[in-house]
Amino acid sequence: TLPIVLHWFIYRSSVLAKTPSFLVLGPSGSGKTALVTKLETGHGSKTHTSQIPLTVQSHLPKSTVPKSWQYRSTADYETKAPKPLLLTDTPGHAKLRHYAYNSLASTTNPPTGILFVVDAADLSSSGTATGGANFALSDTAEYLHDVLLSLQKAYNNAKTSKAKEIPFLVAANKLDLFTALPAVAVKSTLEKDITRIRETRARGLLGVSTIGKGEGLGGNDEEGDDEREVLGGTSEGDFKFATMEEWNVSVEVVGGNAVGEDGPGVEGWWEWIGAQL
Ligand code: GDP
Repeated sequence: TLPIVLHWFIYRSSVLAKTPSFLVLGPSGSGKTALVTKLETGHGSKTHTSQIPLTVQSHLPKSTVPKSWQYRSTADYETKAPKPLLLTDTPGHAKLRHYAYNSLASTTNPPTGILFVVDAADLSSSGTATGGANFALSDTAEYLHDVLLSLQKAYNNAKTSKAKEIPFLVAANKLDLFTALPAVAVKSTLEKDITRIRETRARGLLGVSTIGKGEGLGGNDEEGDDEREVLGGTSEGDFKFATMEEWNVSVEVVGGNAVGEDGPGVEGWWEWIGAQL
C-alpha cells in the first residue's frame, strides 16, 4: 500500500488542482510580490523574492461575496468556510518572463484569471527625470502587449474550449502616491502605448516580439501567419482593451495600492477576484 504521506500528497494535489488560481504578472518593481503578500497575509511587507514563480494560498475576505453566491443571502455566506484561492507570483524581469508565459500556456491547469500589475506612479512621461521616453511605460506596455498577444494566439490555436472567457485585471498599483495616474488614465496611457508598439511591430522596425521566438505559447516555432499575427487583428487605428473580447479576454483596469495607508487599498481587486469565483 502507498505510504500515508503519498496519500496525503495526492489528496492535497487534487484539492489544489480544483482551487481557483490567479496568475500575477507585470514588470519588475510594479508591486507583484507586495500585492500577493498583502492578499495572502493582509499586510504588504515583503516575505519572498520573485526569482521563480511562487504560489501561495489565500482566502476571499468575508466582506467580499463571490459572484457564485450573488442570488443567495449574504448572511448565509458569512457562515460558510472562507473561499480558498491560489495566487502565483511570477518574476517580472525581462529575462525571466518565460516562467509567466509557461504558466499562461498551461492547458492542464489554466488560471481562473490573470492579474497584470502596473506601477501607476511610473507611467506618465512627465514623471521621468530625463524628460525623454519613459522606459517604465514602454517596458510595461510591451510586456502587456506580448501577454495579450499570446492569449490571442492561444485562442486562435485552440481546438476546443473557445467559449471560456479569460478574466484579465490590470491592477493600477501604488495609488497611494500622489504622482500616480488614476485608473482611467492608466488605461488610456497603456492603450496609447500599445497602439504605438503594435504599429512599430507591424512595420517590422523592432523585429518580431520575443514571444515569437519560442518563448511564447505553443506553435510559435513555426514561421508564418502566427509570426505575423497582430494584436487586436489589425495595426490600423487605436488599440482598445475592449477589442480583446473578440478573443474572449475580458480586460478591466482597477486602481489600488498594495502597501501604504492612504489610497483605495486592495478592496477593488478583491471585488474583481470575488466576481470570478
Ligand atoms: P515586484 O518586483 O513586482 O514583485 O515588486 P515588489 O512587490 O517587490 O515592489 C517593488 C517596490 O514597490 C517595493 O519597494 C514595494 O514596497 C513598493 N510598492 C509595492 N506596492 C506599493 C504600493 O501600493 N504603494 C507604494 N507606495 N509602494 C509600493
